[in-house]
Amino acid sequence: MRYDASKPLPMPDPESAPFWEAARNDTLVIQRCGLCDHARFPATTYCPVCRADNHAWIKASGRGRLFSWIVVHHPVPAAAYRDDVPYLVALVTLEEGPRIVTNLIDCEGGAIYADMPLIVAFVGAADGFKLPVFRPIRELGGV
Ligand code: ZN
Repeated sequence: MRYDASKPLPMPDPESAPFWEAARNDTLVIQRCGLCDHARFPATTYCPVCRADNHAWIKASGRGRLFSWIVVHHPVPAAAYRDDVPYLVALVTLEEGPRIVTNLIDCEGGAIYADMPLIVAFVGAADGFKLPVFRPIRELGGV
């Protein structure tokens, strides 16, 4: 998939800006609650478990497991993604617990299965953004 200027770009807000800044440096970060240690993504002001408003950004391991996925054949917006179909949109459970919606790459010709071990990779997009995507970890049983 190409991540050029024809595609929608992230729109960081005060909550999500640290995530996108870390991604520019090939680093996946998530929030960890300062009171109960709950790891969360996407970024929120308040912890969904204890409602505390203090948190720290922590570096995620980058490892995850495939929770669910779809193969996109009819993209929206169509004009931007027309040349990319079919492509994979996935819900990945990070090792730390939160789930992230992302793309799967490097799955051509291989089986895709639930709980498949994955590792994050970063792909460049327009305006200097980098987007976290995931690829199979072959040595751990991935395809
Ligand atoms: Zn909490």
